[in-house]
Amino acid sequence: MSVVGFDFGNESCIVAVARQRGIDVVLNDESKRETPAIVCFGEKQRFIGTAGAASSMMNPKNSISQIKRLIGRQFSDPELQRDIKSLPFNVTEGPDGYPLIHARYLGEMRTFTPTQVLGMVFSNLKSIAEQNLKAAVVDCCIGIPVYFTELQRRAVLDAATIAGLHPLRLIHETTATALAYGIYKTDLPENDQLNVAFVDIGHASMQVCIAGFKKGQLKILAHSFDRSLGGRDFDEVLFHHFSAKFKEEYKIDVSQNARACLRLRAACEKLKKVLSANPEAPLNIECLMDEKDVRGFIKREEFEQISAPILQRVKAPLEKALADAVLAVGDVHMVEVVGSASRIPSILKILTEFFGKEPRRTMNASECVGRGCALQCAILSPTFKVREFQVNESFPFPISLSWKGSVPDAQNGGAEQEQLVFPKGNPIPSVKAVTFHKTSTFSVDVQYSDVSDLQAPAKISTYTIGPFPTLRSEKPKLKVKVRLNLHGIVSVDSATLLEEEEVEVPVSKELAKEDAKMETDEKPNDTSAPGANETDVNMQDAKGTAEAAGVENGVPQSGDKPVQMETDTKVEAPKKKVKKTNVPVAELVYGAMLSGDLQKAVEKEFEMALQDRVMEETKDKKNAVEAYVYDMRNKLCDKYHDFVTASDKEELMAKLQETEDWLYEDGEDETKGVYIAKLEELKKQGDPIEERYKEYSERGTIIDQLAYCI
Ligand code: ATP
Ligand code: MG
Repeated sequence: MSVVGFDFGNESCIVAVARQRGIDVVLNDESKRETPAIVCFGEKQRFIGTAGAASSMMNPKNSISQIKRLIGRQFSDPELQRDIKSLPFNVTEGPDGYPLIHARYLGEMRTFTPTQVLGMVFSNLKSIAEQNLKAAVVDCCIGIPVYFTELQRRAVLDAATIAGLHPLRLIHETTATALAYGIYKTDLPENDQLNVAFVDIGHASMQVCIAGFKKGQLKILAHSFDRSLGGRDFDEVLFHHFSAKFKEEYKIDVSQNARACLRLRAACEKLKKVLSANPEAPLNIECLMDEKDVRGFIKREEFEQISAPILQRVKAPLEKALADAVLAVGDVHMVEVVGSASRIPSILKILTEFFGKEPRRTMNASECVGRGCALQCAILSPTFKVREFQVNESFPFPISLSWKGSVPDAQNGGAEQEQLVFPKGNPIPSVKAVTFHKTSTFSVDVQYSDVSDLQAPAKISTYTIGPFPTLRSEKPKLKVKVRLNLHGIVSVDSATLLEEEEVEVPVSKELAKEDAKMETDEKPNDTSAPGANETDVNMQDAKGTAEAAGVENGVPQSGDKPVQMETDTKVEAPKKKVKKTNVPVAELVYGAMLSGDLQKAVEKEFEMALQDRVMEETKDKKNAVEAYVYDMRNKLCDKYHDFVTASDKEELMAKLQETEDWLYEDGEDETKGVYIAKLEELKKQGDPIEERYKEYSERGTIIDQLAYCI
């Protein structure tokens, strides 16, 4: 079984695999450790990863990047609207209100969903891992930003399915970093707690996490983030600075030209990197637009001035993380910075001032997330024996259930009721039970209790619970299990009707056993976190929360509303027995892919991958014809010279020349079969010569050997 970790960045991705001796970051086909997150659609095939990046300058409108920003977001999302303005490809609103990416592929305009494109990126990463491991890769762990909404998490899982992957866990990127940091530490305290702040500033976003380490475990104390503060925002500042300058100085408007935009952005990114190590940097681009060469120059000081609005935002997530962790600055023992944009000196200065200590860079800034993902996969997979290390993760958003009571309640203004189920910071995974007093079909919404941190609608999903069986008792209870799974996805797992029945005979030991068995057998089917070992936790805690909430709301104890969340009732009075009946639960997740559509996407990906493979093989066959032409020509003049008649040689030489010309003209763009046939045709003439030569040289060696023996 494969043990692999994937860090899919907004800009680049890392593939890490677990081996018996440790974690390795593997090289892609260009021997690079980082693979660009780009899919470039071509006339005959797709180019993904390094091949995609190579084609993107030539074909910017069909090169899809920044997919991490697009998945699981509504088209109307203001952040998405801002993002698509600077993208070279076309994004429009689909009929469902979600974005559609337009690209020219196989000679016609096509549309793809961001999830589909992410699936392509995953396929590429999967094949990088497979080439390295020389085995099929299915099980994996994938890093995601902590701020990913339910829909974004589901989109990542769908993209993984499209690529034929099976994530054992979607792990928050900063948690993966914390794991990679802590698992190898041999000096973690037994009783005290070592508090470390991890600050990750990547291409598009900033994430902060404070983790408390003890021997054999880490506990996430707080997560915070700024979804739109990353390296690319600094590129954008430079881009606007220089495009305004060039408009004035050279009278060119780069915004009117996709290729010029792309080239100026790339130059600005380079400039930004140069400024991390130098106090000033030049910018020269030949033939940027209208055949004009442009020149520019900027000092680090000026760069810092024009990026002040971004730099000012760095402090807020730091403050928030401390507040949520209930720690003072002095309680943070160490600060680790990761993410490549953290190399900007002014960012480091802000971090140093804030924490009152120099941040450290003991981690490999670009690889730690990928390594952490592979470690998490190794921990979850039975394939490897990993050092005992517990990861106590915390969920960043509060989640509640809401529903309508069937009896309108004046006090509650329309009887819309809400119950907090997973407060912010709830451990992951977690299962809680909510008890309702309902007797007929009803629906429950799962929603964010607070959307101030999010750019998402509050409502996540709706579960319709029912129909109910014929009731046997007057006041049955309905126990609804709500699960926050390892990926940080919330779902209503099951609904069980509990009915107390009077039984004539006292409950025998046998019966009691039966009942207890039902409790444990009643494993809700978990479709979203297969393979993950989830534990039912916090049932007790849930009871407390619910009862408190009930009192707070001042809800009178009518027969219709949910009263409490509670622990399983196991002990019955001798004459009473609880009968349990499962009530069907139907799920509707807003914006999620339907299973039929997912299946279609899987098939489509398979078709496209097949087309890519056919094209790669065609290239190989064409190369083989070309190689044969050169090789045979050389040999005919050299070692085959004595094994061919002058007329045969002349004829074959002419044929080789003809083939060479054909390869550059009519035969430049043929099908695989044509190249195979061409090679066979040449070999028909060439093989007899080759055989005569072989026969002779073999005989020669035998004679040589004989001579040696004598
Ligand atoms: P994300 O984490 O946002 O999804 P990512 O993981 O792809 O994206 P990283 O690889 O951590 O992002 O960081 C990429 C960013 O870091 C880019 O904006 C890049 O320009 C910037 N960067 C890389 N090297 C330097 C440097 N020396 N100085 C400043 N910025 C740099
Ligand atoms: Mg990253």
